[in-house]
Amino acid sequence: MAKASHPIISIAVDGPVGAGKSTLCDALAARLGILHLDTGAMYRAVGLYALDNGISSDDGPALDALMGSGAAKIGVSFEGGKQKTWLNGLDVTSRLREEAVGAAASAVSRFPSVRRELVRAQQEIAKSQSLIIDGRDIGTVVLPDAKVKIFLTATPEARARRRHAQLLAAGKDADYGTILEDLVKRDRQDQSRECDPLRPAGDAVILDTSGLDFDESLQKMLEIVESKHGI
Ligand code: C5P
Repeated sequence: MAKASHPIISIAVDGPVGAGKSTLCDALAARLGILHLDTGAMYRAVGLYALDNGISSDDGPALDALMGSGAAKIGVSFEGGKQKTWLNGLDVTSRLREEAVGAAASAVSRFPSVRRELVRAQQEIAKSQSLIIDGRDIGTVVLPDAKVKIFLTATPEARARRRHAQLLAAGKDADYGTILEDLVKRDRQDQSRECDPLRPAGDAVILDTSGLDFDESLQKMLEIVESKHGI
């Protein structure tokens, strides 16, 4: 296959929880005709393994042993442009959105052994194909040489409002105050961890979507990609 004639495009998108990274990156990837790798799903798969196997997500030595043993094999595949996340050969995609799994992911992602393993896997995936990759450390650690880096953010209140509306629209019980509190806690955890904390790369474009709707945010992202990449 004459693959080499198309240069690989890597777009790094980082930002706090609830900034709309997932849905915006899905839409951006569709517009650009490339795939979107959601790295949070890989941390969630480790969190899920810990939950299912009675490993505390605060137990660093147990997580070090787990990552060293290769007992939790995390993989991704793409079908019809959509990511599937695999844990030891099982498609766990549908379980990853549970609140408990998100909390476990946030906790396990503090540990260097977990990050090292997943960063290596993400770099391997990004080597061979054009991708939009979203996470917390993509522009700073996973793809420090990416030509396009976007740091997508919004005020905690705007993010909590969106999440609240999404849950209500899905017919779920939701309390705005609890959502806001949880989001602020998750922000603090992601920003203050010692290993690869959430922060914008020095060369990232910061996009604050607090006052923008979905289409306006997507348009801004497209403009950033065009200005950096000429595509
Ligand atoms: O993005 P998502 O909410 O699915 O990520 C789940 C958790 O995984 C986050 O709270 C964050 O702590 C962690 N994460 C990370 N680095 C990434 C992606 C996610 O630390 N690149």
